[in-house]
Amino acid sequence: MNKNIVVIGAGISGLTTAYLLSKKGFDVTIIEKNSSVGGSIESVFENGFLFDRGPNSALETTPVIGQLIKELELEHELLYASKQANKRYILRDNKLHSLPMSPQGLLKTKLFSGKAKLRLMAEPFIGRSGDGYYQSLAEFVKRRLGQEFLDYAINPFVAGVYAGRPEDLSVKSAFPKLYALEEKYGGLIIGTIRSIRERKKRAEVAKQSAKMLSFKSGMIALPKAIEKYFGSNLLLSSEVTSVDKTEKGFSISYQQNGTINKIESDAVLSTIPSYVASGIFTKYDKDFKTHAEAIYYPPVLVYYLVYNRKDIKQDLDGFGFLIPAKENKSFLGALWSSIIFSERTDESKAAFTLFVGGSRNPEFVKEDRISLLAKVRKEFEALMGITADPIFTSERFWEKAIPQYNLGYVEHERFFDDFEKRNPGLFISGNFRGGISVGDCIKNAELVAEKILKQL
Ligand SMILES: Cc1cc2nc3c(=O)[nH]c(=O)nc-3n(C[C@H](O)[C@H](O)[C@H](O)COP(=O)(O)OP(=O)(O)OC[C@H]3O[C@@H](n4cnc5c(N)ncnc54)[C@H](O)[C@@H]3O)c2cc1C
Repeated sequence: MNKNIVVIGAGISGLTTAYLLSKKGFDVTIIEKNSSVGGSIESVFENGFLFDRGPNSALETTPVIGQLIKELELEHELLYASKQANKRYILRDNKLHSLPMSPQGLLKTKLFSGKAKLRLMAEPFIGRSGDGYYQSLAEFVKRRLGQEFLDYAINPFVAGVYAGRPEDLSVKSAFPKLYALEEKYGGLIIGTIRSIRERKKRAEVAKQSAKMLSFKSGMIALPKAIEKYFGSNLLLSSEVTSVDKTEKGFSISYQQNGTINKIESDAVLSTIPSYVASGIFTKYDKDFKTHAEAIYYPPVLVYYLVYNRKDIKQDLDGFGFLIPAKENKSFLGALWSSIIFSERTDESKAAFTLFVGGSRNPEFVKEDRISLLAKVRKEFEALMGITADPIFTSERFWEKAIPQYNLGYVEHERFFDDFEKRNPGLFISGNFRGGISVGDCIKNAELVAEKILKQL
């Protein structure tokens, strides 16, 4: 008889692992609290505009993404980002500077001072620190590349990826590949060159050269296609309230329409956020709570603004821009959503997605929403040379948006590893382990599926 497994959570982590396990012959049941699949992935059509309220795109960093698209017959929906989206801007002194993409570009750019450029050249001569997990990203970058590169490249970059702060994030936990370049090769420049060769052998694609993709109906197309594959084995509006060990395996209780139901299984995979998993798994180990609740998920407010293109002076020829903390703005950056994927609006309009809050400014989202939007719009419209009101605005508030792999994260990582070893049949995953991006969640889903397969 096939082994059966219950997967808790129908975000991209749970859905992908469930799919891969099902292909390997497991009987899989997915239990999801919300009335729809996707978790952090939400795409809605409002007034004819597509608003991706969570991730706007994914990087094709693993062949599993292509496999899913092919097997789930999503090719007709697939969109790749426009070439223009390779150009990214950073704000400095109220001006947008394109991020240099070549050594010549680096020499010419006004984003960094001459002193900062000279400092970058010293990178190959700087030794290893050996501080490992206990070094923040800020310390690491300042030591290797200098303060200005930290302030005007890395600080805005981590605001764009994690909605995080380089001073808080652990370099080894949050950017393991970056840290490995130093550890393995002794430096970032030499390490980048050597690792390209090795990555080619593993058929992996580096984040900086991976293709960026989405779908005609938004990022939700992928979760929806996996939902269709599972049919009635995916239970929506069903909140798991407890997981108990039985003689044969596990008994999972979930609440659906006010009644408690139970389901038996050989194994359980949790992909829910760590602070929710805490309520379910702390009875197995009292330290679960300490680790799971220590992982910080800052709030993020997402604005979606659509303007008539004739009212915008700024050239729209890129991915968007990110804002360094030093520039003191009330938002973290703006994606030029309809430039990245031109299908998002017709040519006479332009759609933008702006982010507010994160670990940098968690208190901003507590401000009165009307005055906050007015402030963000005023700053954004001034930077972009926009002369008229938007024709459409929308927003989505994520109270606990993205888990931060902050200093001390390694203790949590070790705890979850040990927890799984001490509790065979129980598996803990989700974006607070193995990376936060959609691509990383999918890559990690493959690793988790292999781990489950091996154990069962
Ligand atoms: C605003 C925002 C923008 C982002 N932008 C990008 C981007 O551009 N590119 C990118 O790659 N990544 C981006 N990310 C990150 C990425 O979207 C997420 O890390 C990823 O989608 C998380 O997937 P997950 O399945 O691990 O977790 P989740 O999506 O959080 O899924 C967990 C699921 O568990 C369910 N659940 C919770 N409790 C229970 C329970 N008791 N019983 C049953 N089910 C339960 C939840 O309802 C949810 O559906 C962004 C995230 C946010 C919030």
